[in-house]
Amino acid sequence: MNTNILPFEGFSSACVHAGHTQDPNYAHLVPIYASSTFVYDDAEQGMRRFSGQEDGYIYSRWGNPTFREAEQKIAALECFGLQDKNGQALQAEGILQASGMAAITTLLLATLKPGDKILTHFSLYGGTEQIMKNVLPPLGISAVIADLRDASIAAGIIKNDPAIKMIYIETPANPTIQCVDIEVLANTAKEHGLITACDNTFATPYLQQPFKYGVDYIVHSTTKFLNGHGTAIGGVLLGTDIEKMTQHVRLIAKTLGGNANPFDAFLLINGMKTLELRMERHCSNAGKVAGFLQQHPAVAKVNYNGLTSHPDHATAKKQMRHPGAMLSFELKNGLQGGIDFMNKLQMCTRTVSLGTCDTLLSHPASMTHYSVPREERIKYGITDGLIRMSVGIENVNDILKDLEQALQ
Ligand SMILES: *Cc1c(COP(=O)(O)O)cnc(C)c1O
Repeated sequence: MNTNILPFEGFSSACVHAGHTQDPNYAHLVPIYASSTFVYDDAEQGMRRFSGQEDGYIYSRWGNPTFREAEQKIAALECFGLQDKNGQALQAEGILQASGMAAITTLLLATLKPGDKILTHFSLYGGTEQIMKNVLPPLGISAVIADLRDASIAAGIIKNDPAIKMIYIETPANPTIQCVDIEVLANTAKEHGLITACDNTFATPYLQQPFKYGVDYIVHSTTKFLNGHGTAIGGVLLGTDIEKMTQHVRLIAKTLGGNANPFDAFLLINGMKTLELRMERHCSNAGKVAGFLQQHPAVAKVNYNGLTSHPDHATAKKQMRHPGAMLSFELKNGLQGGIDFMNKLQMCTRTVSLGTCDTLLSHPASMTHYSVPREERIKYGITDGLIRMSVGIENVNDILKDLEQALQ
């Protein structure tokens, strides 16, 4: 029995039930299939499995029942309530990977070849930027980096450069919370026969569904809000071209070997059951935190796309259910102000990463971007007193109290 066949009315029901396959031993929850290989009744069955005549698991780098449950659940959430060109429920295929970076690597190596170019926005996750700048160029693939918040810039570049094969976006993006218009960029890409890919990590499918706008591929670092508890590194690559995903892309993924592991897949599946509940609380807390910071005399600026002062407020509002749980703010007292503030935090956690139940704060100038030359990081908006915050699901009054005392 596969309970993801019911058309769920509400997203939270899909979070809890979608993608579940009844266990042959009637376990309620999906078991952790900690097995590298799967056995055959006889040699003929082995033949049928290897030739693809019979479905079944062979080797966990290629696929595993615990991974499958996670893949089906995420695919169901990204397609929730969407229809394909023929008015049927949209279907997507997911491939669970060891990390967000593994999912991005698999995507790029499965879809691009030497001579191809990627058009992307300048505000990207650091690891993705490293792939674009250092890993792909020796393979003959390069990135054209532009401000894609202006759609006319993208259209102009594409028209003049036939080598561009993909538009790759991340929205909202790290750490500026900048947003690009998914619909406009996906339409521009379609006009020119380009592939589109979107990193949906910050938003999650509850807040934003890139497939709605015809995006071809979605990647996630499941490490963040999808897992939601900070218990495992993971990633997923999803696509709506089922044949391409199950054949070519799956073959590349199997060969590259960036597969997940059953225990992390189990943690992810159970984390995702509360996705809607958590995101509602994360976002309502973030709105209150942004409002509090905006009126605080020690704070020079708040970057939160729920505030009308954010330059991408309208884009976020158009494509996101809520503005998300990520924000950043600039302290008036620069580098030392940032360090003092971080040291005074009591309940909130001093760490990088995002998307856990706990509120997390980091100070890029003294942490993630400490080794980046000052002029360079300031160009990207990472000023001395910038603090990045992933707002958690604690009672908001406790978050505000901690911030208040640390800002003293
Ligand atoms: C964390 C992150 C990644 C990388 O994911 P890992 O799971 O750490 O490999 C990619 N994109 C975004 C937006 C992220 O936040």
